[in-house]
Amino acid sequence: MKLFIVADIEGVAGVARPEQCRPGNPEYELARALMEGEVNAAIEGAIDSGATRIVVADSHASMSNLRADHIHPFAELVHGKPRRFSMAEGLADDEFDAIAFIGLHAPAGVAGVLAHTINGRAFHRVELNGELVGETDLYAAYACECGVPLVLVSGDDRLAAWGEERHPQALRVVVKQMQATWSARSLSPQASRERIRQAMRDALAGGRGEPQPRFFAPYRLKLVATQPVLADAFSMLPGVERLDAQSIGFTSNTVGETIALLGAASLLAGSLI
Ligand SMILES: [Zn+2]
Repeated sequence: MKLFIVADIEGVAGVARPEQCRPGNPEYELARALMEGEVNAAIEGAIDSGATRIVVADSHASMSNLRADHIHPFAELVHGKPRRFSMAEGLADDEFDAIAFIGLHAPAGVAGVLAHTINGRAFHRVELNGELVGETDLYAAYACECGVPLVLVSGDDRLAAWGEERHPQALRVVVKQMQATWSARSLSPQASRERIRQAMRDALAGGRGEPQPRFFAPYRLKLVATQPVLADAFSMLPGVERLDAQSIGFTSNTVGETIALLGAASLLAGSLI
């Protein structure tokens, strides 16, 4: 059984403030350790269930949050950026049996602790085939394209509510309750890790599931930028059409290309804001 883990930081227990997610702050050093703790709990749960290969993709900001010597030695680590398939780089390189999301968060446009989609400063809203989507939706769709079922999603209560109808087959672990966008009531790190480890055991106990696609080709992306100048820049990317002052559209036959386009737009935004 081969497992792929996507690891983010905003949905980790004990993390609720933006400075906890930004390198250079003392609070970030604690937050990355909390992230490592939840990732290791997921790895341990998968090992308990007989996993033969585990790959973890560090997926927050610089994508270099997880310290290699802090991660369970059984797992391989994908880190650094830019990378074409971003949070799921490496997923297509082997026949994975399952994918799990640890530390994820609600989408931009939905209430949730530190809710955003890919780039909170640049992306106001992301839609796929007319539906508001967040990172869990985009990467679950990409996983389907790779033939890999989503089995577990961990984050706040709002992400769990968001996933209830969108990823009904995946177990949902709630490690904190939203109090406000930058405020949460969290489980202790120990309790969140125990929950994640147990949920991972449960998620993998039933054997290999089937991917359950929610979106079908052609994939029509609508990206609403936070500022018109960003839409100006995004329109320079090949295949992108300008929809209005702040929005661009992109149509593709693969989710992978959509993800690559979003990654390129996010990088481009970094040169302007
Ligand atoms: Zn993040």
